[in-house]
Amino acid sequence: MVIAIDGPAGAGKSTISRLVADRYGWAYLDTGAMYRTVALLAREQGIAPSDGPELGLLAANVEIGFKPGPGGAPRIFAGCREVTREIRSQEVSAEVSEVSAHRLVREAMVARQRAIAEAGDVVMDGRDIGTVVCPGAEVKIFLTASNRERARRRRLELEEKGIIVGQAEMEKKIVARDEYDSGREVAPLKAAADAVVIDTTSMTIPQVVDKVEEEINRMVDAR
Ligand code: C5P
Repeated sequence: MVIAIDGPAGAGKSTISRLVADRYGWAYLDTGAMYRTVALLAREQGIAPSDGPELGLLAANVEIGFKPGPGGAPRIFAGCREVTREIRSQEVSAEVSEVSAHRLVREAMVARQRAIAEAGDVVMDGRDIGTVVCPGAEVKIFLTASNRERARRRRLELEEKGIIVGQAEMEKKIVARDEYDSGREVAPLKAAADAVVIDTTSMTIPQVVDKVEEEINRMVDAR
């Protein structure tokens, strides 16, 4: 079974996806981490975020690996090098949307994501899982939250790593990233027509997990 969890930055996709995957003993695939890995390597290799052909080559050749990490958060590898922390840097966050908007980059990533989806039960989080990667996913969830709340969550995440960012600055950054992701030509961020939209602004994590589980159980019962 494929569970597609899409939505804008900071809506809680990775937290919820991980918990749901754990609950059912299914795999979890963070597709954003794949685009982030391409963006990180491009930066290091001096490839501009606007250079579609070079980025496409890089994306087609990079070996991206996942291993279980502490507390359930997957560790991410480019070849045998671990990039888990580096792909979350503010520099990568600022460039990843432009990198991921190129058709060749998306084609390379989507092919791998589909292969993983075909291999077994998986919870996948991203922007285009329910619309492009797995339009046949049995359960499609679109998580949202207000800009203020999403920025607050991202700020707290960064604060835990010792990085202090103001609320207004963070709100501006995530809104800019969402606008870029929603406005791009290839596979824009949007809810699939048959997705269940959950606004998590004033929900706790367990409440959101329960809601997603309800949808999964409904689908399992209907089989
Ligand atoms: O999920 P995360 O915030 O780590 O994703 C980083 C970026 O990767 C997004 O802003 C988006 O540009 C891109 N992305 C995408 N399609 C996906 C997952 C992420 O375009 N399925």
